[in-house]
Amino acid sequence: MAIAESNYWLTTTEMPKANVAAPLPETVDVAVIGAGFTGLSAALTLVKRGVKVAVLEGESIGWGASSRNGGMVLTGLKLGVNQLIAEYGREKTQRMYAASLASIDCVEQIVREEGIECDFARCGHLEVACKQKHFDDYERQAEVVQREFGHSLRVVPKRELREEIGSDIYFGGMVDVVSAGLNPARYVAGLGRAAQRAGACIYEAARVEKIMRESKQGSSGWALMTSRGSVRAKDLMVATSGYTGAATPALRRRIIPIGSYIIVTEVLPAALARELSPRNRMIYDSKNYIYYYRLTPDGRMLFGGRAAFFPETRDSIRRSAEILRRGMLDVYPQLSNAKVEHVWGGTLDFAFDIMPHAGRMDNLYYALGYAGHGVAMATYLGQKIAEFICTGKDENPFAGIPFPGAPLGLYDGRPWFLPLAGMYYKFLDWVG
Ligand SMILES: Cc1cc2nc3c(=O)[nH]c(=O)nc-3n(C[C@H](O)[C@H](O)[C@H](O)COP(=O)(O)OP(=O)(O)OC[C@H]3O[C@@H](n4cnc5c(N)ncnc54)[C@H](O)[C@@H]3O)c2cc1C
Repeated sequence: MAIAESNYWLTTTEMPKANVAAPLPETVDVAVIGAGFTGLSAALTLVKRGVKVAVLEGESIGWGASSRNGGMVLTGLKLGVNQLIAEYGREKTQRMYAASLASIDCVEQIVREEGIECDFARCGHLEVACKQKHFDDYERQAEVVQREFGHSLRVVPKRELREEIGSDIYFGGMVDVVSAGLNPARYVAGLGRAAQRAGACIYEAARVEKIMRESKQGSSGWALMTSRGSVRAKDLMVATSGYTGAATPALRRRIIPIGSYIIVTEVLPAALARELSPRNRMIYDSKNYIYYYRLTPDGRMLFGGRAAFFPETRDSIRRSAEILRRGMLDVYPQLSNAKVEHVWGGTLDFAFDIMPHAGRMDNLYYALGYAGHGVAMATYLGQKIAEFICTGKDENPFAGIPFPGAPLGLYDGRPWFLPLAGMYYKFLDWVG
């Protein structure tokens, strides 16, 4: 029988209450659109510097990808290091890589300072090779990362892989002990509470429908029309990631929303959980059509992937549950009797160059394009853009990199090409 959609993480926490009835303020210093990791981290940084902030959220706190993800707090970027160096040069890539490490410290620091109970743990991540040639490349990658960034990755040959994972289907692995894991719903709830405590006003059910640049008495700012009335703001920050919509068309044209889905089993016997993941790593494989998985803090298997490319619908979630269960059993036949209790989906944000983008465009500030690495990077770039707003200095290492739209302008925000992209990536996995 098909399981009903339910997000396991949301069963483990209560989301903070926000303003659903109070009228919106007439004016604020900064309006932030979106109450996920990016928007809340930005709001927290801004209010701590004495800025008056309104966070406008179309649904509720953490409703987007921030409460739906795998909770993997990962080093590195989606693109491989050689590709990054070829594209952006050594120095820029070194700064980007350093930011990926700093982003994990940034999450850890917020968790500690704000006392957020979200099971943050530096358990490390394990990438597993689906083909021999993927494994052969790990050795080269580890060398480059050590040489260029002074960061150590441990390559694990197949004969030692059982120390890391209770599966025999892979050709070897690569471990980064700096990565961490957390419970994302508890983390985003904690970020929301921290921002509120510091003085940020968060307005739920306040969908921004239109934004307009306006000038008054010689100073310019923004008028935002929302489903609950309007707000004026001197500055505007867009933090809508995969849910970026028609109110910000220039960003929408640059971001492809891609569905990702997760299943979670019942609580497993402790010995079985230990066998599946002896070191409790955050695990993902080397395919384009990726699987990612981990144990939850209470000992369930969480197994995710791009089982369908389109953003989540009831139908894609139902089909994904079946596809992901089959995928999970390919990796872990030991789970054939484990009951799947939860399934849900969410939307990721990919830029056309698969890079994070943060900065200022047409006078508005933004940070998005995390490509599945957003738990840490969204927190970090939210903070960096908030600092940019306050100081006028953009110190994020992604500043100034080209932010491409679709070739020939063939995309207006409706991703008609996703089925083709899905087939293309399956093909690459087959031949690559
Ligand atoms: C299934 C899944 C698994 C993932 N796993 C991982 C992982 O393990 N590790 C990792 O690092 N990353 C992962 N990610 C990615 C990560 O979750 C995101 O990159 C991150 O949460 C982005 O945070 P955000 O605050 O920018 O956006 P979101 O959390 O998506 O928040 C955007 C918010 O903007 C709101 N919004 C949009 N338009 C408007 C509007 N017009 N008016 C008002 N509000 C609006 C939305 O309602 C939404 O709440 C995963 C994502 C998914 C979907």
